[in-house]
Amino acid sequence: MTAELIDGKAIAKTIRGEIAAEVETLKAKTGKVPGLAAVLVGQRKDSQTYVRMKKKACAEVGITSFGHDLPEDISQAELLKVVQDLNANPDVHGILVQLPLPDHIDDEEILGAISIEKDVDGFHPINIGRLSMKRRDPLFVPCTPKGCIELLDRSGVEIEGKQAVVLGRSNIVGLPVAMLLLHRNATLTICHSRTKNLPDVVRQADILIAAVGRAEMVRGDWVKPGAVIIDVGVNAVDDATKKKGYRLVGDVAFEEAKEVASKITPVPGGVGPMTIAMLLRNTLDGAKHAWGVE
Ligand code: NDP
Repeated sequence: MTAELIDGKAIAKTIRGEIAAEVETLKAKTGKVPGLAAVLVGQRKDSQTYVRMKKKACAEVGITSFGHDLPEDISQAELLKVVQDLNANPDVHGILVQLPLPDHIDDEEILGAISIEKDVDGFHPINIGRLSMKRRDPLFVPCTPKGCIELLDRSGVEIEGKQAVVLGRSNIVGLPVAMLLLHRNATLTICHSRTKNLPDVVRQADILIAAVGRAEMVRGDWVKPGAVIIDVGVNAVDDATKKKGYRLVGDVAFEEAKEVASKITPVPGGVGPMTIAMLLRNTLDGAKHAWGVE
């Protein structure tokens, strides 16, 4: 069998179109547009790229973005003040603090200082706590996990009653995506670095979410025939044929797995574009919440 491709790029484009239309309608109705503040500390090239991509995506759907490019040596108190000022700014509906922060910054305190009403990354402990409880809807769900579920939904994959296996238990991907699958009534297994007989556990999965950050770790013979695979991993592997000297691969050996699975996301072009689309969606939802419109 050759699996059907779950085209994250195309699905994200559709979602961005939906968001742009909704922003336009809201602007006509209220005279206002949603706003996202992106806080970047230091000069990390990858973080600069992510923030640039997020601002560009905002502009394309009509969301205003506010950039805060701060020096590497900013103090904890100064950064806290930036977050507090953004909390108080009525034109800002989402606050994004690009991670990782420099070592001298206590990121737990910074993320915890973001108003839960503006926590569009969904990393505030209250939002994560609500996500982990039954019938306690968080105001925001973290973007990459939310994007994984959206990919399943928009590809017509039934989640309820399915055996779902999540590889990875990080706060930003593995754990929240597992909670979302549980809320959707999947039967859930969460794997991590100490899991024994990993291939056997993975072979149980009707739905497999891979988020370990290990290039092509999941082989074709780990995959249950007909499984649906969402590959979150983004790993650079050396490739002399590429201009940059590397290429990006997922946590799943795509060529092998696609012969066994029924649906699979590619890397790149699968989960990645969904993460930004969900950030835009969360920002729009934050604005609607602030304006009291549905
Ligand atoms: P972390 O490094 O924070 O977590 C990795 C998880 O995988 C941990 O729970 C770890 O277990 C587990 N793990 C590591 N090695 C193994 C192994 N050999 N067998 C089983 N489990 C293992 O990574 P993230 O969750 O932040 O990211 C995961 C991947 O997703 C990365 O490739 C990252 O680049 C990508 N990513 C992609 C995004 C996108 O938008 N497409 C967004 C965010 C991340 P333990 O807890 O025991 O250490």
